[in-house]
Amino acid sequence: MTIALRQLVLKVYSRCDLACDHCYVYEHGDSTWTSLSKVISEETADQVARRFAEYAKDQKLEEVLVVLHGGEPLLAGPKRLRFICERLTAHLSPVASLDLRIHTNGVQLNRTNLRLFDELGVKVGISLDGDRTANDRHRLDRRGRSSYDRVLRAVDLLRENEFRHLYLGLLCTIDIANDPLAVHDALTALDPPRIDYLLPHATWDHPPGRPADGPAHTETPYADWLSAVFDRWDEQEQAVPVRFFESVLSTLRGGPSLTESLGLAPSDLAVVETDGSFEQADSLKIAYDGAAATGYDVFRHGFETLAAHPGVLARQSGIEGLGLAAKCRSCPVVASCGGGLYAHRYRTGSGFDNPSVYCSVMPGATLLVHASLGGTGCRPPPFAASSRRSLGPLGSRRSRVHARELRHIRFMNEF
Ligand code: SF4
Repeated sequence: MTIALRQLVLKVYSRCDLACDHCYVYEHGDSTWTSLSKVISEETADQVARRFAEYAKDQKLEEVLVVLHGGEPLLAGPKRLRFICERLTAHLSPVASLDLRIHTNGVQLNRTNLRLFDELGVKVGISLDGDRTANDRHRLDRRGRSSYDRVLRAVDLLRENEFRHLYLGLLCTIDIANDPLAVHDALTALDPPRIDYLLPHATWDHPPGRPADGPAHTETPYADWLSAVFDRWDEQEQAVPVRFFESVLSTLRGGPSLTESLGLAPSDLAVVETDGSFEQADSLKIAYDGAAATGYDVFRHGFETLAAHPGVLARQSGIEGLGLAAKCRSCPVVASCGGGLYAHRYRTGSGFDNPSVYCSVMPGATLLVHASLGGTGCRPPPFAASSRRSLGPLGSRRSRVHARELRHIRFMNEF
């Protein structure tokens, strides 16, 4: 059975004004972007909207999500962005409830853009890696200059009364060289509706970085980093939703995972590039050149064809999709971890039939909540006892997440 695709990442501009060295589009194994048109044409945008609306109607979808993405989508300019949003709304709104978003690095975000988004109903998510030191470690522009002040100006605009309703949240790529508390405190100080912590993309061929020495040199550095953030989050009464932790809580309570990077929930994500080609999840680009390609495009194919693509089906097959990774199939936290992000399982030779490359450095991240709720894990979680105690019993007020909210959290993926 195929799972309906309800989320569309629409690439509207295929270049970026930053040169972040951890970017999976431009700085890893895939070179697809070099052959793409910079900006999506009006013809392509209209065809995408038409195709997605046909599919939503056919599948009787009640709600769909479209995220304008890049590269840096704001580089498409207000005129093209207006056209894209208006065509999406015209085609999709009669069929399904449309949740329209843009994911930006924030550098070009200004009042003109925000007034346009207010008019068109586009909510805004911003990438920011924490405090100035953390952000400047990777998120520099093409001349090597910090993006920090420009991004903070964008966030400050979003926090103004006029635009606050457009503020979706902050996406932070983890670097364990950064101070976890400084990162979390810097992000929460910006009063975001949600924080998403993303593991830096890695595979077994290109494992995540580990410090050779210093305080972050431990057996499980990523779990330890997240553990520190979890403790702070818990001290703060979990005031700002953090999807990573909420996803683990949800799955341990028998609910859905809230992110494709954790748990066994099937992927419902489609990606369309600026030239109209369908792709699988963008994150696959870290595996090998062309890994996300499908050979389909919106002019010759519909979303139903993409939904039946073997690569899409593989990311919808839950525990069966863990294939030969016997370690995952018998793992006590497989419902919460799910073998991690599909792309993070890749190894030359065995393909994606492996546990996550992060299994070796952060198994405790999912065991944290598991243990705190009275479960047993395959190894003791490396988290502080205070965290385990304070999380409270299953179904406690703080760990309770309403079912409708869960659906909407799930809708904000780590694009
Ligand atoms: S913790 Fe490791 S073994 Fe368990 S499901 Fe995740 S990747 Fe697989």
